[in-house]
Amino acid sequence: MGRLTPSFTGEVAIVTGAGSGIGRSTASALAASGACVHGFDLHFPDDECGVRFHEVDVSNRESVRKAIAEVVEEEGKLDHLVQAAGIVRDRALWKLEPEEWSSVLDVNLSGAFWMLQEAARLMRGAGGGSIVHVASINGMRGKFGQANYAASKAGLIGLTRAAARELGPKGIRVNAVAPGMIETAMTAALPEAVRAKAVAETSLGRLGGPEQVSSAILFLLSDAAAHITGEIIRVDGGQMS
Ligand code: NAD
Repeated sequence: MGRLTPSFTGEVAIVTGAGSGIGRSTASALAASGACVHGFDLHFPDDECGVRFHEVDVSNRESVRKAIAEVVEEEGKLDHLVQAAGIVRDRALWKLEPEEWSSVLDVNLSGAFWMLQEAARLMRGAGGGSIVHVASINGMRGKFGQANYAASKAGLIGLTRAAARELGPKGIRVNAVAPGMIETAMTAALPEAVRAKAVAETSLGRLGGPEQVSSAILFLLSDAAAHITGEIIRVDGGQMS
């Protein structure tokens, strides 16, 4: 079956969480489609796949500002932002430690905001751009043990919609994908029973891979999605259908 292969030749993209999983798949697909890609992560992968890596903690506003300034100094512009950095600290809410609550909110929501704010300033000045956030179906429903994570991803969905409203008049589109359970480092350590429950929830009878999420992200970034903003696309094999 054919694949959608948009061209990003001459365009500059930043991908957070580019060292692993969904962010890594997105960064390498963008690079393969001609974009100049800067990956922001705490760790660099062994094979950088044509991506220029920066050591960035997205929850640290100064770290974000410094790295984005480096990209702009090198490239002179920013066309696309993909926010895939994220963490989980799962535990029943009545046992959740303060650090487990705040670290998940700091990375998944505040980190996304620091990145968005800097990108919005640049893109507003340039008159356009496209942004995709990686949310989760667990930001759209309740999930046992994920009060912190679900709150962060529900917040990210709200941030996506508010940003789409504020930035649309300047030609900047802001969308999100909401993956179901995807085979990455984040889910590899989950007990088999949890994975089996997720498979049973799907209509397609399987978990997705990072490349199925990154192809939806590339679509949303591309001109093929020129009239789409404030949208949340589930990539979940039907887990929420
Ligand atoms: P992953 O663990 O493979 O990759 C996450 C990346 O984010 C890692 O490289 C990690 O180093 C980086 N990161 C973590 N904290 C960071 C920080 N403070 N600053 C910069 N980088 C940081 O996980 P993944 O499964 O690829 O997840 C990517 C995104 O997709 C996350 O936002 C996650 O919440 C979301 N998501 C994943 C699934 C899934 O089932 N895997 C489902 C729904 C949503």
